[in-house]
Amino acid sequence: MFDLKTIVRPNILGLKPYSSARDEFKGNVGVFLDANENPFGILNRYPNSDQKLLKEKLSQYHGIAIKNIFIGNGSDEIIDLIYRIFCNPGKDKALTFTPTFGMYQVAADINAIELIMLPLNDEFQINTDNLKPYFKDETLKLIFICSPNNPTGNCFKKSDIEFILQSFNGIVIIDEAYADFNDNKSWSQSIETYPNLIVTQTFSKAWALAAARIGIAYANEEIIQLLNKVKMPYNISKLNETAAIEALENRITFEANKQIILEEKKKLITALKKLEIIKKIYPSDANFLLVEVEDADRLYQNLVEQKVITRKRNSLVKNSIRITVGKPEENEKLIKSLLSISKS
Ligand code: PMP
Repeated sequence: MFDLKTIVRPNILGLKPYSSARDEFKGNVGVFLDANENPFGILNRYPNSDQKLLKEKLSQYHGIAIKNIFIGNGSDEIIDLIYRIFCNPGKDKALTFTPTFGMYQVAADINAIELIMLPLNDEFQINTDNLKPYFKDETLKLIFICSPNNPTGNCFKKSDIEFILQSFNGIVIIDEAYADFNDNKSWSQSIETYPNLIVTQTFSKAWALAAARIGIAYANEEIIQLLNKVKMPYNISKLNETAAIEALENRITFEANKQIILEEKKKLITALKKLEIIKKIYPSDANFLLVEVEDADRLYQNLVEQKVITRKRNSLVKNSIRITVGKPEENEKLIKSLLSISKS
């Protein structure tokens, strides 16, 4: 049986969070002499510590209650907070499926947590049989599932994720950084069904706001309260919150740019298939393609010489590079460069 209280670190359960001046007085009008701010300027006041306006917009957009939403300084911050809330340094463990997003390991190392890496199968899917023995380990607190997975690009099978959510008594994090690029139903719609589920999303990809550092977590209210307790009081700047709100209000631009990226992805696949140096294009539900080539190190370097930067991923998947879908002219430049390399 999943019991949240038994898996939270005792010091976090008992933590009294910082209470800011603005937490005590919520009104907008008044003479504010409470927070040692400068009375002059445009950005002179501390932002709301609860990002209420952004949460209201997200709540309308996704039909998820405000109490089930947390905003982080990028989803990177949320990953780190999750380790800090649930994992006792030097004692507890987390698990993920490799190859996957590198921050799960970095955040584990920062927090002195062992991260168990279970290899994905040949189709880059989860092997649930390999996972079963780990469910018995009471020091295993977190399972990170990145779907669509970075760098492989594919989503994991719904039935496998459901199995994990039902069988594991710790926290399951489904990282949906790239979910906007496919039509699969978001796992954020399942937070009522699974009390151990945290779904993370980001404004950095389909919402085109990587510079604004806005990540989102959806989960049951108790988990959201723990995240609120542990975060820095003003983790989201007002400028960045406003940028995210404006993006949500400008859905036409979001949809139009997303369609261009998806069209370009199709074109890129067609063009790449014609090139002999590309051995394989892995199926992708995201805005990038993992491709197998003959010699990834050499190809990467040749592309850099032509000022086209891709991501070498051959330490994770043999002879692979990861290509982000760019603007039409950027993708054309990539194809031209690849053509010239294949001729040389
Ligand atoms: N999750 C995945 C799978 C990612 O690829 C990335 C960024 N590359 C992140 C999370 C981090 O996103 P953010 O910019 O919101 O910190």
